[in-house]
Amino acid sequence: MAGGSILVTGGAGYIGSHVVLQLRERGERVIVLDDLSRGFRQAVRDTPLTIGNVGDREVVSNLLRSHAVDTVMHFAAYTIVPESVREPLKYYGNNTCATRSLLQSCAEHGVKHFVFSSTAAVYGTPTAEICDENSPTAPINPYGTSKLMSEWTLRDLSAASDLRYAALRYFNVAGSDTRGRIGQSTPNATLLIKVACEHVVGKRPHLCIFGTDYPTPDGTGVRDYIHVEDLATAHLASLDHLRRGGASTVMNVGYGHGYSVREVLDSVARVSGRKLVIREEPRRAGDPSTLVAKAQRIRDLTGWQPRLDDLDTIVSNSLAWERKLLQEPW
Ligand code: UDP
Repeated sequence: MAGGSILVTGGAGYIGSHVVLQLRERGERVIVLDDLSRGFRQAVRDTPLTIGNVGDREVVSNLLRSHAVDTVMHFAAYTIVPESVREPLKYYGNNTCATRSLLQSCAEHGVKHFVFSSTAAVYGTPTAEICDENSPTAPINPYGTSKLMSEWTLRDLSAASDLRYAALRYFNVAGSDTRGRIGQSTPNATLLIKVACEHVVGKRPHLCIFGTDYPTPDGTGVRDYIHVEDLATAHLASLDHLRRGGASTVMNVGYGHGYSVREVLDSVARVSGRKLVIREEPRRAGDPSTLVAKAQRIRDLTGWQPRLDDLDTIVSNSLAWERKLLQEPW
């Protein structure tokens, strides 16, 4: 550990809170800014929390100045794709415009390192099933576009200033803290593993498979599922890269191999010992058949090594968190 304070925006959210835990565990000075519109106060635990919005220049400037922040890790964003289609201005406002405002404050206060939470949604419907960072970006929804616009803003600011950044394009994130302290608590989830675990604990009467006629081995969609703890470690490795003087970069974060929906549901049945009630439905609009990361760059540049690349482990941690939520709702 070496460096100044780290401001984590969205540190009360699913991914941000796992990153905060790891930063604290290695002794970093961390402060969290979150408006708690989607995050949970409990997820921040004992890390100092300021409740406020990333787009609030005064709040952000005060934090950067008073804590001598030299690194910002930016997670605060809306992330629900169908919502972004219905309410695009909300996404461009909260994701793109607020990021621009945050970057203005960073530029004014001499922030040196910026780690940005981006998404594989910037690839849209990929022409190749395995995406590397040079694959064409062509988002098909406002969520992906709002993130890509932020990537471009960062790219241009870093070219014009001393700020260096790492933008991490996440594939399908699942799992929870392996010690059971935090996990994904978002209501009205649509993500496959979360939904399947809610079914197992009795919160949903059945599960749907969206599309059984894809050109994949079993006809269902294939995704690259990554454990949230490995994703969090990728952020720390990216920060270390920047602190070593590494160049600004965009990096995929995934395991580089995929599982079909049926394989995921088989794992959920195996891990839980339950027979799942499954309905087969038509394809969901906008879903690509296969989306798998080529994620060599992050390994080469940062030395990142995943430790939890095992579907049953991901499912088992997700299920443990879902059971805990049932006992102690957030
Ligand atoms: N999926 C499904 N049933 C669900 C949720 C998702 O069959 O209840 C499928 C979806 O069509 C895709 C995969 O599971 O092939 C992963 O979807 P998810 O929403 O978890 O993430 P996405 O890849 O859309 O970001």
